[in-house]
Amino acid sequence: MLKNILNLSLEDLEKEIIEHGEKRFRAVQIFNSIHKRNVSSFDEISSIPKELIEKLKKVYFLPVLTLIKETESEKFNTRKFLFELSSDGRNYLIESVLISENERETLCISTQVGCNVGCEFCATGKMGFMKNLDVSEIIAQIYEVKRKTGISPSNIVYMGMGEPFLNYDNMLRSLLMITHKEGLDLSSKRITVSTVGFKGKIINFADDLIKEENKSVKNVKLALSLHSTDNGIRESIIPTSVKNNLTVLYNELAYFYQKTRNKITYEYIFFEGLNDTENDVKRLSKITKMVPSNLNIIPFHPIDFELNKPLDIFNTKKDINNLLSNKKLFDFIARLKNNKVVVNVRSSSGIDINAACGQLSVSTERQKMAEDTV
Ligand code: SF4
Repeated sequence: MLKNILNLSLEDLEKEIIEHGEKRFRAVQIFNSIHKRNVSSFDEISSIPKELIEKLKKVYFLPVLTLIKETESEKFNTRKFLFELSSDGRNYLIESVLISENERETLCISTQVGCNVGCEFCATGKMGFMKNLDVSEIIAQIYEVKRKTGISPSNIVYMGMGEPFLNYDNMLRSLLMITHKEGLDLSSKRITVSTVGFKGKIINFADDLIKEENKSVKNVKLALSLHSTDNGIRESIIPTSVKNNLTVLYNELAYFYQKTRNKITYEYIFFEGLNDTENDVKRLSKITKMVPSNLNIIPFHPIDFELNKPLDIFNTKKDINNLLSNKKLFDFIARLKNNKVVVNVRSSSGIDINAACGQLSVSTERQKMAEDTV
């Protein structure tokens, strides 16, 4: 059976190439061609002899994601990509989103097909969990977007489909891969990993980022999907918060900052009447001063009601203009600012093509169709 070469770190590839009777530098040339030059087949590797290319083909394969659909927003510089991948004899669909804003090209990538956390405001959470993406499937989203658009993303956010911390090892290995100097060589300062928070995982992440062998990822930023400062309300919208209460998470965030010195970002979807009370403002003011942090306020992006059944509170009509000019939202932001909280309002780029925060989803029917085409 052929082996997936995109899952191999440079160190693993070096070992294997030496075992196949080749010099170590050949592994660097191959890794460099695949990860930096972004070749889509072994035949495109011009730096190694033809005989070695033939040898590679007998042992490895270079997987590519198939682009099924690209959707471009009419209102924003945002594109959504629907990719198909094959794994264990089945086909799956995932989405990635490219947002071009203020000279930044931010690519939002997925780490799982579906998600079993089941956050009430999130379309991916309504799909259920299908599979963890392996390293190659995570990084191939970047490589395919680069090939298809000619754009090399300047920033990567692990905020697409899935909870990165529930696919921890592959998420960490993918970070090491895209920051490798012989590969894409992305600065870790330009990468953010987002999580709803799981007891112990933020501590693990901090410990992993500061290891000497992981120094290429030491500046990766952490974003916590907070969405409420009240444990009870948070539990009602993020089911796993029952086990992962806010006191535990705040202590872990303090540890993360103390070890890495990387600023924390709090993601906070505004739900009128649910998480915008005076107590929320006071608690946000306190939390954002615990360690250096940013608070991103995100308008709630309605999810596709044909596919999902949101709670009544989330059953907002999909009126983009109303959503972006909600007076209560601006009043909440003003109250936060009065309490000296530094607030950013996250853009709703891509909301018109269901590509904004919380909207990524591939219906069960479409996943089924992909499966049937194997
Ligand atoms: S917000 Fe994140 S953790 Fe929650 S259901 Fe969606 S993908 Fe999963």
